[in-house]
Amino acid sequence: MEEDFLLLNPGPVPVTDEVAAAMDEPMVSHRSAAFEAVYERAQDGLDYIFEESTLDGTSTATAGGGTTLLLNGTATMGMEAAVANLVGDGGHVVALVNGKFGRRFARIAERYADVTRVEVPWGESIPLADVSAAVTDDTDVVTMVHNETSTGLLNPAAGVGRIASEHDARFVLDGVTSIGGDVFCLDAWNVDIAVTDAQKALAAPPGISAMYVTEEVEADLDGESAPFYEDLDWHLRKADSHQTPFTSAVPLFRAMAVAVEDIVEETMPARITRHRTQAAAFRAGFTAMGLELFADAQDATVLSNTVTAVSLPDPVRGDDADAFFDGVAERNVSISGGQAHLGGTIFRVSNMGGLPDSAILRGVRTVGEAMDD
Ligand code: PLP
Repeated sequence: MEEDFLLLNPGPVPVTDEVAAAMDEPMVSHRSAAFEAVYERAQDGLDYIFEESTLDGTSTATAGGGTTLLLNGTATMGMEAAVANLVGDGGHVVALVNGKFGRRFARIAERYADVTRVEVPWGESIPLADVSAAVTDDTDVVTMVHNETSTGLLNPAAGVGRIASEHDARFVLDGVTSIGGDVFCLDAWNVDIAVTDAQKALAAPPGISAMYVTEEVEADLDGESAPFYEDLDWHLRKADSHQTPFTSAVPLFRAMAVAVEDIVEETMPARITRHRTQAAAFRAGFTAMGLELFADAQDATVLSNTVTAVSLPDPVRGDDADAFFDGVAERNVSISGGQAHLGGTIFRVSNMGGLPDSAILRGVRTVGEAMDD
């Protein structure tokens, strides 16, 4: 009997039937009280996630200090909005690059400001000494990706946030594949703006994203220097009344509200623990069959707990990788290959969202079978 389709890509991830059903409800105006109630439910759930993403559930954000807002666009829009509202008129950005999404942040920033890249080969950790050497009192913004989806490596958020704050630079942290799935500490890491996507660890459908802006950084924003659609002063004003400046993606906001309420119900400590256990199971399964993890990890604490990247061994590498990926797809499982120059050299799987443990086992088994084809 053919098994059900299993989506193991690092986003979009599977959504529950309840999340999917929320998108089917009768349409309402995005200016109605009914929509505002939906937006507020999504904000409340996200506030919980932003505030309590620790293993013991202790608060990680200054109580009531910042604003959670939702954007009609994926996290790339949030990344650009954060940078453009802080340095749209020019300035100095230090961008940390050790994967595709760190590079994306640098490319965005290069459209607005002078950028110093702190760059190491994809899959290697960024040394804090290099960050210290690059960030100066003239630095306005430091950008970093917390969980590099392209390589499966966790970046040193606490250390980089400390360096940024020592120089009074704003720390903009992409938590796209960690927020809602792993530890994420706004306060302790000195994060000024955090960005995440719907379709990753929040397990909502793709198309919208969320952002947390601390109260302190609100004063630094210059919305008029940003693209019209990304003026965060305007977005923040509207978020206070549970609205977006422009027409909201109503069905996606409804789905987001249900998805984050599921997370509140599970609780972040339980969700983080589950993600860590499942990522460890992926790693144990793949390494037990003789495969090597891609990330050049000095120790296990820098390995992602949501995305696992594995080097393809010689027989299924390069041009031969296609047959492997076809073999996985024929078994009704969807996984990802490497991005950009990593194409044909790695595969990536995700345990983000609400996957049962049986999905992890099936992912490992399917990879093993497809390697043997
Ligand atoms: N940042 C990270 C770490 C990601 O993994 C992604 C998507 O995979 C993005 C940003 C941008 O996502 P999108 O294409 O949804 O804008």
